[in-house]
Amino acid sequence: MFQKILIANRGEVALRVQRTCRELGIRTVAVHSTADAEAMHVRLADESVCIGPPPARDSYLNMAAILSAAIITGSDAIHPGYGFLSENAEFAEMVAAHDLTFIGPAPQHIRMMGDKIEAKRVMAAHGVLPVPGSSRAITDARAAEAAAGQFGYPVLIKAAAGGGGRGMQVVQGPRELAERLALARAEAGAAFGDDAVYLEKYLDRPRHIELQVLADAAGNVVHLGERDCTLQRRHQKLLEEAGSPALAPAERERLGTLATSALAAIGYRNAGTLEFLYQDGEFAFIEMNTRLQVEHPVTEMITGIDLVREQIRIAAGEPLGYRQADIRFDGHAIECRINAENPISFVPSPGRILAYHSPGGLGVRVDSALYAGLVVTPFYDSLVAKLIVHARSRAEAIARLARAIDEFAIIGIETTLPLFRKIVDVPEFASGTYNVHWLERFVTGTI
Ligand code: ADP
Repeated sequence: MFQKILIANRGEVALRVQRTCRELGIRTVAVHSTADAEAMHVRLADESVCIGPPPARDSYLNMAAILSAAIITGSDAIHPGYGFLSENAEFAEMVAAHDLTFIGPAPQHIRMMGDKIEAKRVMAAHGVLPVPGSSRAITDARAAEAAAGQFGYPVLIKAAAGGGGRGMQVVQGPRELAERLALARAEAGAAFGDDAVYLEKYLDRPRHIELQVLADAAGNVVHLGERDCTLQRRHQKLLEEAGSPALAPAERERLGTLATSALAAIGYRNAGTLEFLYQDGEFAFIEMNTRLQVEHPVTEMITGIDLVREQIRIAAGEPLGYRQADIRFDGHAIECRINAENPISFVPSPGRILAYHSPGGLGVRVDSALYAGLVVTPFYDSLVAKLIVHARSRAEAIARLARAIDEFAIIGIETTLPLFRKIVDVPEFASGTYNVHWLERFVTGTI
């Protein structure tokens, strides 16, 4: 087992990884930009190293600075968290080249799944059917027209290197195609440094359902059930649940068996998430994330399995030590992503936290690096806290969520807490019958 882990991240996820390290008796090294010198993840780590100025490209994405920090502190492994370098195959290779362990999958799998066209091809070859779409990158309008003609409008143009819901364009008919294609390519190039795009059939009322998997070096693969991330704004998840209100246990089993055998066949290792769109009783694969997900706590709550602990154990070469039949799903969990944003306009709201009180009680978990006096800077992602509740049933979890939101006080900045307080009161949310487009209409007042 590792003696010392450097955590190449900040905020709540850096703390999340530290907590598990401490429980495992592993020392932690925090890295931080000059803007984060007072951050909680720095204060609570055993050691810390400043790796650069505030812009992420000069600090949290600065591979040389992070590797140097790992070497001078005598770390033996690096946990990348999510975002930043977590899905960067080159970084994973550099970590290994310096005799350190990257806590995540092998570089070849990060690369394979990082190209969404390739990911769909590989999974299809192993029986996991993707959303109908073009099988290679589209560079000109004529190829786009031919592809769209095959599966019909509306179509969605997506970036092959995409993430975070960016660079997507819905096309209603052939007349818009050329213009939208140019727009999508420009957006993808600017956001990801890669303008490769592809086409997918645009589903009119899907749910987003994803499957958490764990795979060890000996080839054992298990799934930890699904998460339902249907409540989204601008294709970004805002509230996630485990399990899905729309899925029967038999469907979970069917999906789990298919996905775990596909991952075993490609030799995948460590934690990963397969994302699907679910409509009319069918799952269609859209992508795989080769890292810890923001919404992983809901899975931890219903399975009792610490996903970061499993990531670390697998990276250290330990076997899972349990089989699919040993995994139990207990109750229901819901997570809200609380962002430092105006709850109506979603304009970022940086500033100093004047007072902070987090909710508690049975079945309430808060993953956050906030404290009174901290300045939330405008440099990074606006996620400042995750409120997670766990209860015996979905109805009880919703009631618990409402009371936990009422207890939560974050004073000094605006947050999206009031939006979640509104959502939990809406009968449609309680019924669980919405699709990925519902929240967008709810926040814009068009329903
Ligand atoms: P990203 O990697 O940028 O997050 P994803 O491929 O994971 O992009 O898709 C994000 C969200 O966009 C999905 O959860 C869904 O709401 C929407 N979406 C993606 N593909 C489609 C599609 N083919 N039809 C309808 N909605 C889609």
